Amino acid sequence: SEEAIIRSEKLSLIGQLAAGIAHDIRNPLTSLKGFVHLLKAKNADYVDVMMEELEHINYVVNEFMTLAKPHLSYYLESNPRELVQSVIAFLQPHAHLYNVQIQLDMDQDIPVIYCIPDQIKQVLINILKNAIESMVNGGLIQISVRNVLDERLIICVEDQGVGISEDKLTQLGEPFFTTKTNGTGLGLMVCKRIIHGHDGDLTIQSKINHGTTVQIELPIKK
Ligand code: ADP
Ligand code: MG
Repeated sequence: SEEAIIRSEKLSLIGQLAAGIAHDIRNPLTSLKGFVHLLKAKNADYVDVMMEELEHINYVVNEFMTLAKPHLSYYLESNPRELVQSVIAFLQPHAHLYNVQIQLDMDQDIPVIYCIPDQIKQVLINILKNAIESMVNGGLIQISVRNVLDERLIICVEDQGVGISEDKLTQLGEPFFTTKTNGTGLGLMVCKRIIHGHDGDLTIQSKINHGTTVQIELPIKK
């Protein structure tokens, strides 16, 4: 639709801005990494810490870059089954590392949706990654995909992780809010932005020590 195209353009504008900023950061970053490597022979301990910090900045820049792919920001007819299955396959090694099983339950009559497939994949990756990382002792993640009256597609990701306290729940999606030592606190912000850009909604429910359910709702347009 016309609206969807305008929205896609706005997103790509944000993306171009992010790309500009990311490039300005990435160039000195690359040169710094080179110098750190040269230094390493002299003082390896400090240099390792510096290298870790550089890697962290690199990671933050990469998260920003997810908004920075204007040439991929086209709405296409996409098969939710393929999107979800490809993301599960992609994160299988990460899940394995955390002793986490992923179960998928999908309605039979899932229609194609009109979306920017790479962005929806990015959202699913961020959410599934959070779910995996919340389960320090392993467990099960259940993903369900439902067709509600051919009007809305509901994707739920339910984990058995540490959960999120009520006061922290309100801060989720604010940029840089993270409880992880190596987190960026950008994942959920990017997710919300992408889903809202698709006219959808993202909601999070959680119970501390029980787990978290993230629900993505996307319109099914014909
Ligand atoms: P990051 O993963 O880099 O920390 P996110 O924006 O993806 O950034 O998540 C922000 C914070 O929200 C996380 O640090 C974590 O505290 C909390 N969080 C997100 N998803 C979950 C989840 N499934 N279970 C528990 N906590 C979560
Ligand atoms: Mg995350």
